[in-house]
Amino acid sequence: MNKGLLIVLSAPSGAGKGTIIKKLMDDDRSLKLSVSATTRSPRPGEVDGEDYFFLSREEFEDLVKNGEMLEHAEYVGNCYGTPKGPVERWLEDGLDVILEIDVQGGAQVKEIMPECVSIFILPPSMRELENRLRGRSTEQDEVVNARLEAARNEVHRAEDYDYVVVNDEVEVAAEEIRTIIAAEKHRFSRVSSIVERVLIDA
Ligand code: ADP
Ligand code: 5GP
Repeated sequence: MNKGLLIVLSAPSGAGKGTIIKKLMDDDRSLKLSVSATTRSPRPGEVDGEDYFFLSREEFEDLVKNGEMLEHAEYVGNCYGTPKGPVERWLEDGLDVILEIDVQGGAQVKEIMPECVSIFILPPSMRELENRLRGRSTEQDEVVNARLEAARNEVHRAEDYDYVVVNDEVEVAAEEIRTIIAAEKHRFSRVSSIVERVLIDA
């Protein structure tokens, strides 16, 4: 069986990653989304173990020390990381896995798993990013300002990614990502065994 595809999705906070991922997952029930660990506080409505594993800094650092994180990074004052176990198991089982992580984490994953596919989601403009971030009303003003500041640096990192998708319309952006995933599954390096199978069956 072919291994699953590891898909790294990054974007500045507020660009619409969460919204697009929800659409992708609703349309493809076999797609797995890695649940990250974080030291930030839950937003209203966020559920521990579903949106994130909400941990103390000490608990987070223990996981890192024990080698249980695939990658981890600090983002605007909080730690975020990807627990390794579930991602490795899903990939082995042939399931496609999405990591919704920041640009620092994206660079780490590219280094250790270069076969991953990386996609950077851009907002249509920085002004629209600010509107979305403020419109979401999940963060205090100073946190929104810090995230907008971080966003300017993150957008420059789009050049490190395999693909860039602009999230103007959610449905269009989701369709573009589906197309990228579909094309990546036909990359020769992922399907070379099919060539051998065709010859054997001759
Ligand atoms: P992220 O996960 O990247 O931080 P969210 O998915 O939470 O971003 O989206 C931020 C806000 O922008 C949310 O209020 C969401 O409803 C809104 N949003 C997302 N995509 C679009 C879009 N294409 N057009 C308009 N608003 C959007
Ligand atoms: P938020 O606090 O808005 O949920 O996430 C803030 C930032 O942290 C986003 O850019 C998000 O992609 C990133 N993030 C979420 N989980 C992880 C993770 O496991 N690792 C890394 N490196 N970044 C993450």
